Amino acid sequence: MTNQVDHSAPALPPGLLWRALHAVRRGLRELAARLWSSLWQVVIVAVIMAALVALGDLSVGLALIAFASFVASVALLPRQDVDPLLEAELRPSPVSGRSRSAMHVMAEALPDPVILLNRTGQVLSCNAPARGLFASLREGSHISSVIRTPEFLDAVSAAPKSRRSVTVIYAERVPVGRRMEVTVAPLTRGSERDGNILVLLRDLTEGERINQMRADFIANASHELRTPLSSLRGFIETLQGTAKEDPGARERFLPIMAEQASRMTRLIDALLSLSRVEMNAHVPPSNLVDLNDVLGHARDTLERIATDSGMTLEVERFPKAAIVRGDRDELLQVLQNLVQNALKYGNSGGHVRIEAKHIPSLGRQTRGRYAISVVDDGPGIAAEHLPRLTERFYRVDVDSSREKGGTGLGLAIVKHILNRHRGELAVASKPGKGSTFTVMLNEAHAG
Ligand code: ADP
Repeated sequence: MTNQVDHSAPALPPGLLWRALHAVRRGLRELAARLWSSLWQVVIVAVIMAALVALGDLSVGLALIAFASFVASVALLPRQDVDPLLEAELRPSPVSGRSRSAMHVMAEALPDPVILLNRTGQVLSCNAPARGLFASLREGSHISSVIRTPEFLDAVSAAPKSRRSVTVIYAERVPVGRRMEVTVAPLTRGSERDGNILVLLRDLTEGERINQMRADFIANASHELRTPLSSLRGFIETLQGTAKEDPGARERFLPIMAEQASRMTRLIDALLSLSRVEMNAHVPPSNLVDLNDVLGHARDTLERIATDSGMTLEVERFPKAAIVRGDRDELLQVLQNLVQNALKYGNSGGHVRIEAKHIPSLGRQTRGRYAISVVDDGPGIAAEHLPRLTERFYRVDVDSSREKGGTGLGLAIVKHILNRHRGELAVASKPGKGSTFTVMLNEAHAG
């Protein structure tokens, strides 16, 4: 048995050999092309050398060395003109230019803010909502001039290499407090990469505010219901247990239980009213209503309540029919809520007045208005509370409101009804000087 050692060089894999040959051929072709493109220079240098040798100024050896050096420099030294591959990389390709303008047109049609960046994070284009969001956003500027959140900037730097879109949340305090969801999406098609990055923004502030309001509303409503409910349960347990055979306790407890039950009924009625008005908020009323009719009805129903609470009510009327587009029952509810508040919070023996004024139109463009003011001589309201009075469950004094049968929803209902009627509510009040709640409604168009 003989051990044969193979001393031959390891064979190159066929693919590698082919690539090496290809590279050599490409190099030779490039060399020939360079010499060909500088042929005239080579010929001129050859002629000059020959002339110098013929004149005896230069030896043949030196002339050959000089000529060979010149040819080598033409063939091998790097040229001044830009490497074509590099140039292709730097030059914006017509395709990417076209896709960029298509992207711009598409971004302009979108309702959300959209910004197109190049691979380094420079702004290539942005749509109108994005410009509205960031006043200092400019094409050509770097995106970090408007969004500085590190997670976002990291996502932008990583985008050219990654193929995934990344979503980050960022919050701003100035100029206005807001929370935004930002999606950073590298633009790719199959295995191709455009290199540009699309930034899509979504403002979360309004949605989160509405969710918070909804959660607060449910918490407030349940709290308002739970208080009378637990009081009722307490009385029922007492009447079933220790006070079972005590007629005196029954006599005392039953009126309190009835009052707690009516408090719950009032609250549920107010909640239902509010939801009814909210449901119709986008459908303006179409019926014609005479406000004098509403004022007359309000006087009939509220005068007795005023007298019962030891107060006086005076109701003014418009000198002529005062026609508005409206829902009679809803407008009556507005007046009832405002007058009931004036009676509830007014001083005993006080006076409540309903004033009616017509404000004529200032020209053909504007419509005349009707102003109905409910004026009381009660304790008044401090200025800091005025902007919040129409919020649901907002009360200046919670205990006083509850004690007087308030639900904290009366003015919220008034505001919603007036919104539906395209009307307005104005409140003027000073502590110790009484309050004036004024309702403004547009005159109905003639015909
Ligand atoms: P409430 O059911 O508690 O009366 P409203 O929404 O009608 O709820 O009113 C909100 C709050 O505004 C009241 O709790 C009260 O503090 C205040 N308020 C309303 N009207 C008057 C008024 N005429 N005088 C003084 N305070 C008032």
